[in-house]
Amino acid sequence: MSVENVIIVGSGPAGYTAAIYAARANLNPLMIEGYQSGGLLMLTSEVENFPGFPKGIQGPELMSHFRAQAERFGTRFVQKNVTDVDFSQNPKKVMIESEILEAKSVILSTGAATKWIGLESEQRLLGKGVSSCATCDGAFFRGAKLVVVGGGDSAMEEAHFLTRFASHVTVIHRRDTLKASKIMQDRAKNNPKISFIWDTEVLEVLGEDAVKGCRVRNLKTGSISEVPCEGFFVAIGHEPNTSFLKGKLDLDSKGYIVLNHRPTTNTSIAGVFAAGDVQDTIYRQAITAAASGCQAAIDVERYLESLH
Ligand code: NAP
Repeated sequence: MSVENVIIVGSGPAGYTAAIYAARANLNPLMIEGYQSGGLLMLTSEVENFPGFPKGIQGPELMSHFRAQAERFGTRFVQKNVTDVDFSQNPKKVMIESEILEAKSVILSTGAATKWIGLESEQRLLGKGVSSCATCDGAFFRGAKLVVVGGGDSAMEEAHFLTRFASHVTVIHRRDTLKASKIMQDRAKNNPKISFIWDTEVLEVLGEDAVKGCRVRNLKTGSISEVPCEGFFVAIGHEPNTSFLKGKLDLDSKGYIVLNHRPTTNTSIAGVFAAGDVQDTIYRQAITAAASGCQAAIDVERYLESLH
């Protein structure tokens, strides 16, 4: 079995950028894209803040550009999920189902996944009115009353986007101030189709085979009420995709990969680097993910040179 120079695990902006740089540095990178390539931008609508696209671009289209650019310089792709890794010795081992791959270095860029509230009814009605992706499912709710849960940029973006289809969108937030950036807050607050319910948690999504509403509790008064809706969108953040990395390298208490010598992308294991949302608890933007992917590829180059 040949030993790869570098295996890149994960195919969002960080992974594809790492692949572009590693491929142009003649490292012949192998990218494990996962079954769902492209990362969270595949679930996004219009991306307005990625430099170079003054008129904005759809998330999936942007990712297809990233991939094509990585492919142009010779990146090889595997559309499977990594199931396990062994970083305890060199070469490092990356398991994709029953196959074991070996590499001198690894870039981890597996990103983050949708966080759910954790209600039984939320999972039962998933795809039956419960969704985490306005872009994917918004068009199913023409003329409907919708609920969006959350107070960050994602919730504001989803709520605003959903007003293209919905007759009304109610944002339910557990505090009385939003976490979202000012511009996103203003856009939502100025949208006549959006209203807010503050200091409120969702106890249950209501409905048998389709969402009919949700039962909520005001956290200040304790009063319980029902909000009728036909669609229930959860936008409360994300969790890093690191379950296969537990015990393999240093993770923080929330599961994010810990970087050792910022601003380098070194993890606690020499020759293993991390880029993008999987190590980013602060910025979590496509552009910062892409930038850290570039850094990781340069760190790999230097690491491989140091082995000679
Ligand atoms: P976030 O900033 O972490 O916000 C999560 C929101 O959900 C918070 O308001 C939080 O409440 C609430 N929340 C968390 N857990 C909850 C639970 N169990 N039940 C109810 N509410 C819960 O996540 P995000 O909005 O996904 O944004 C993540 C990052 O991506 C941010 O850096 C954001 O700027 C960026 N982003 C940018 C754009 C854009 O610029 N176009 C769009 C989307 C995301 P608290 O406020 O009480 O903590």
